[in-house]
Amino acid sequence: MAVYKLIGPITQLITLDKLPLKGALKDESLSSIAQAGILIKDEHIERVDTYETLKATTTTLQPELIELDGDYVAVPGFVDSHTHICFGGSRANDYAMRNAGKTYLEIAKAGGGIWDTVTQTRKASQETLTQNTIARANRHLASGVTTIEVKSGYGLSVDEELKMLRAIKDATPQVEADLIPTCLAAHILPKDFDGDHAAYLAEISEKVFPILKEENLANRIDAFIEEEAFSNEVVTPYFEKAQEMGFDITVHADQFSTSGSEVAVKFNAVSADHLEASTEKEIALLAHSDIVSTALPGASIGLGCAFTPARQILDAGGAVAIASDWNPGSAPMGDLLMQAAILGTFQKLSNAELLAGITYRAAYTLKLDDRGRLAQGYLADFNLFPTHHVNEIFYHQGKLTPQQVWKNGKRVQ
Ligand SMILES: [Zn+2]
Repeated sequence: MAVYKLIGPITQLITLDKLPLKGALKDESLSSIAQAGILIKDEHIERVDTYETLKATTTTLQPELIELDGDYVAVPGFVDSHTHICFGGSRANDYAMRNAGKTYLEIAKAGGGIWDTVTQTRKASQETLTQNTIARANRHLASGVTTIEVKSGYGLSVDEELKMLRAIKDATPQVEADLIPTCLAAHILPKDFDGDHAAYLAEISEKVFPILKEENLANRIDAFIEEEAFSNEVVTPYFEKAQEMGFDITVHADQFSTSGSEVAVKFNAVSADHLEASTEKEIALLAHSDIVSTALPGASIGLGCAFTPARQILDAGGAVAIASDWNPGSAPMGDLLMQAAILGTFQKLSNAELLAGITYRAAYTLKLDDRGRLAQGYLADFNLFPTHHVNEIFYHQGKLTPQQVWKNGKRVQ
């Protein structure tokens, strides 16, 4: 027997229904329903309409009535399509050294940098990593993030990468949010690997990829394409192998130098993330593809660097998602809503573009077409903000938080 719930009245419900994947969006394009209701059937949305209409026409279904008192705005549950929340240790010292003017190399020499997190993550047990991931996912859920991508990439050996991905898999049934794992073994060349970049990637593709399939640990392969990480040339056979085996490709692209977005286009990646260094050439390339460009304002804020040129990408006709990049080094904040709001002020993005960037456009990069909009058939993942108008949400720059979070038709906060 299906279980029906009817929730309302909601002062303003933002559906995002039928908005396009690509291109600029004006706020006037946001369709909304005033004094709305959401009829939920099990995990999905059965109907959205005015609360009065739903109440009058659904009596035979005998829905459980959840009557709201006061002003609420409903928006889809947020999707964070790029995080590194499975890690051990802290990099507070790096942050202090960087702000004191130390260079990347000086910080690395002092024992900081990604290698520090690799050391701390390797020291942590699989169970500890699971608990760390659960704690961060639950913090995200409380701020309305109902779907969270999580990368490996701090293990950097066959066994340690698998340990991370198994920890993420163990965390998945223990959290209400959906966790979507990605293998980022191609993060940097590990210091202790006996061989070059190509040999390392060959070992990972040969020994890790088949186990990812066997144990259902990840269906997405990511690589950090950068001078001090992996080059276009060296990553090509790695991605070819991944594609042959049916993995989706995503890329850390153009963060400090360009070439990553070219690789993303060459492999028809689901997303190209970062893009702070992209020039007009890369922007045109991405805008003419179906690749979603993912802005990571948390990394720009953490490093004091330029933001992703989201305005230009949207105006060129591209798709832009916004993700937190939550990680212990460059983006420790882990507050998607606050970061999206800040990106909005610097890049002059409309509320519609910000909202699309953390809902259906982000979901598209994870190949999840069942969420990110509030319409019939979509998952009943939504947030209720205690306010009367959607503009209030980004205006408060992350300080207005949802009073209710619903995931799969169930209230979880
Ligand atoms: Zn990242």
